Amino acid sequence: MDLVKLADAIAKKIARKVRSEDVAKFGEYIGMGADGTETVYIDKVAEDIAIKMVGEKANVLSEEAGFIDNGKKYTLVIDPIDGTKNAMNGIPFYGVSIAIGKERLSDVEYGIVINIPTGDIYKAKKGNGAFLNERKMKVEDKPVYCLSLGKSGNEKTWKMASQNTIRAMGAASLEMCLVASGAASLYFMPRDVLRVTDLAASSLIVREAGGFVYDAHGSPLDMPLNLEKRSGVIAASNPKIVGELI
Ligand SMILES: [Mg+2]
Repeated sequence: MDLVKLADAIAKKIARKVRSEDVAKFGEYIGMGADGTETVYIDKVAEDIAIKMVGEKANVLSEEAGFIDNGKKYTLVIDPIDGTKNAMNGIPFYGVSIAIGKERLSDVEYGIVINIPTGDIYKAKKGNGAFLNERKMKVEDKPVYCLSLGKSGNEKTWKMASQNTIRAMGAASLEMCLVASGAASLYFMPRDVLRVTDLAASSLIVREAGGFVYDAHGSPLDMPLNLEKRSGVIAASNPKIVGELI
């Protein structure tokens, strides 16, 4: 089984399994993840599927388990559940994100993100474009922006929020996929809080759909495949908007 097929199979199995689980159990506290954030039941169920299916076929970098070095050239960068808080609260906007890379975000070759409640599948292979359920995606310029507000927002996002059509949905990988599909033209997280597990698949998906991905300071986003580094992100349909945000 090649790694692309493996990544697809893992993402689909996690999506199926989570849909079959009892929502009331999603938020049960399990312990502390490798990234220092709490692991809840639904994170654990999803990650266990991934780790078992990868076996020793690749290295794994996952949100709760950290880096599992199997001595392989490729690493599967996995966020078993992005948008855990949405899942726990019964808000139907959370997903699974898996990327295939080596050392850095910039060498990621493949990414898949599944919106678990809807079943929508976003994927991209480097140099081959990005697809939503087999339909080729293209970014669009439109005045609909996904922003991070509240505690993780800043003056720029709050100002922008008062003047535009805004969505703040709590799952970075999926919000970036909305930029890729043309549903929104911007996703902006101003604070350095996102890990590469949140971003690896969707950064490739946005770029392959013709969009641009920067850190919150306006440099093209790149980061090592580890959980230590945290970044903000600007994912945009065109570079013009970046000047307003940094
Ligand atoms: Mg997660």
